Amino acid sequence: MLAGTGALAAWKFWPEQGVWNPCRIGLPLRLARHDLVSAAWEGLAVERIWDAHAHLLGTGDSASGIRINPDMESVLHPAEFTRRLFFLNAGCAYDVPGGSADRAYLRRMLNLMGGMRRGVKLLLFALDRAYGDDGKRQDARTSVYVPDGYARELAREHPRYFEWVASIHPYRADCVAALEEAKRDGARAVKWLPAAMGMDPASPRCDRFYEAAARLNLPVISHAGLERAVLGTDTQDYGNPLRLRRALDAGVRVVVAHCASMGRDRDLDKGENGPYVDSFLLFSRLFEIKKYEKHLFGDISAMTQVTRAAPALAKVVEREEWHPRLLNGSDYPLPGVMPLFSVDYLVSLKLVQESAAPVLKEIRAHNPLLFDFVLKRHLRSGGKMLSKNVFETRSFFEAA
Ligand SMILES: [Zn+2]
Repeated sequence: MLAGTGALAAWKFWPEQGVWNPCRIGLPLRLARHDLVSAAWEGLAVERIWDAHAHLLGTGDSASGIRINPDMESVLHPAEFTRRLFFLNAGCAYDVPGGSADRAYLRRMLNLMGGMRRGVKLLLFALDRAYGDDGKRQDARTSVYVPDGYARELAREHPRYFEWVASIHPYRADCVAALEEAKRDGARAVKWLPAAMGMDPASPRCDRFYEAAARLNLPVISHAGLERAVLGTDTQDYGNPLRLRRALDAGVRVVVAHCASMGRDRDLDKGENGPYVDSFLLFSRLFEIKKYEKHLFGDISAMTQVTRAAPALAKVVEREEWHPRLLNGSDYPLPGVMPLFSVDYLVSLKLVQESAAPVLKEIRAHNPLLFDFVLKRHLRSGGKMLSKNVFETRSFFEAA
């Protein structure tokens, strides 16, 4: 089935909680102590819970070094403009007269982490610029740039809450040195958005990078499938999960973000012009190849969104044999983008019990991170639930 077909059925539930995040602070005690919340924490080693997918955003109005393409600030580019407002609002950072959006975004994250149990950490993602085949920087084709240094500094300043993930374009002349530096500075992985960054993971241009990443044992978290969140070079084909084979064959540990659960890609196993099939199907095929067992992983971030839930989410919940290689992430701030989620839709798919819906919605208005966690802990399909290890991701990132 088309990943988008299920989503169509979801529109009648939309937007269930309005369009803008209400940015409420502090979780009422009644919710914090609710049985549903206690049950979500039960049986987990809290200090092993690392949220493996969170975006660090802002506007660059502090010393963060974040750069946003001016096109995104213009009302003449309404799509880009709206997208930006949504993200900043989801992170409760857009409306800060006289203040700093960077700092507001950080403050909100700290606030939300304060509402999680002590020991839980968030992996903050940097985002590198687009580069051309010639290895030259392409500022005009970069929509957002979040420097490694900013993610690293926040992890250093708030070690109780954050770890950091570097972003290094593999075509950069200095990519090997940058990887070595990131490893030295405690980066837990490297994040790629191939379509937005203008890079083909199947290109021999990546080989130097792969050799270094394997040697340093730095996993690559790569987006695969359709990329809607960040527009950039717009080379969707680069997100084909099958293109990551080159990294796997080079011995790199690869985490496919969202298990490639949105969009369609060419079946390259049937040739460069192979038919278009669901990206998730290609991911599944790769995932079941025995020789990639120790190297290929998937993150389940964003899979609870209306555009992704059917049918991929049910499948990952039911496939217990997949769980040892799945990592939970929130894709923060996306759980705070109100129209992207519908609890009622998940109830209609029988993935969530109806009785849990009102509480989940209430939690969401206060703490999207807690919402995402409690929701995923309560997912059920075919009598199965996600295993503990999906949430206890720390060992994956600490593996020597
Ligand atoms: Zn993401």
